[in-house]
Amino acid sequence: MKYLLFSIVFVLCTCACFPQGDNQSESIKIELPTNFKKALLVNEIEIPIQSKADNNSNDFVDIKAEYWDTTVYNPYKSTTVNTTEFPMNITFSDSTYASPVPHKKVITSHFGWRRGRPHKGLDIDLVTGDSVVSMLSGIVRFAQYSRGHGKTVVVRHFNGLEITYAHLSDIAVKVNDTLAKGQYLGKGGNTGRSTGSHLHLSTTYNGEFIHPEYLFNFDDTNTIRSQELWVTRKWTKATYHSSKGLAKLTLFTTKEAALASLEKQRKVYVVRSGDTLSRISKRNNTSIAAICRTNKINQNSTLRIGQKLILEL
Ligand SMILES: [Zn+2]
Repeated sequence: MKYLLFSIVFVLCTCACFPQGDNQSESIKIELPTNFKKALLVNEIEIPIQSKADNNSNDFVDIKAEYWDTTVYNPYKSTTVNTTEFPMNITFSDSTYASPVPHKKVITSHFGWRRGRPHKGLDIDLVTGDSVVSMLSGIVRFAQYSRGHGKTVVVRHFNGLEITYAHLSDIAVKVNDTLAKGQYLGKGGNTGRSTGSHLHLSTTYNGEFIHPEYLFNFDDTNTIRSQELWVTRKWTKATYHSSKGLAKLTLFTTKEAALASLEKQRKVYVVRSGDTLSRISKRNNTSIAAICRTNKINQNSTLRIGQKLILEL
């Protein structure tokens, strides 16, 4: 046994002396000396070499490594297990983006519930033939006609975010093209399921749609809301929003803030016969002080049957 261990140590030491160039192979094979062959009952052993990318995964992100399917609109859908964990963290190296349209951005419909259906993007007014450019630098993942969306370009950016440009009248890029921020990708139009020329723009991360206005200010400043963002489930679901306008927006720039927002959920409580603040607080696992603060009442206030109290749970 001692002999065996010694031989393994010897072989490992020998490997450590091998120069490691840039073109590393996945493994190296070493022919063993005759004595060792007998002891180990093998002629050679194979030792895997870790590539540079594995060691410094933070420095090098290959955005084409996963779910890089240029033939389907949402390749993440194919996964049977939804791996998204909330809150999702998205970081940006830029603080501004390039306006996708060459004029003032007029939003005609927001991300949210619209005529009984979820509208998972933002509609920006344009005239057919207007230039559409990539908001950030990235690589074209999808560029073809897609049912509903019409002529569509999807660009995956280096932070993993994907931006979709839909209803185009002309596509000027090919899949796997690298685009700089502001680079022309096609002409705006009215293809697919669309009434009137406009740009339907959606933002997705790990296949989850995100309210685009949670990430970007669609005003003349062309700013990214924060270089560090935490997205809660609320900002991925159209049912929580109205397509008619953007409600109050609270940005979460830390994980703690995002998690804290989930803890505070509001509930309306209707006062019943025999209720006291003490009873309500105990039953709902909150404090009398919290109920008083939220409802602007004091501890000695008389409760009326049918009175509505807001409980922050
Ligand atoms: Zn739309």
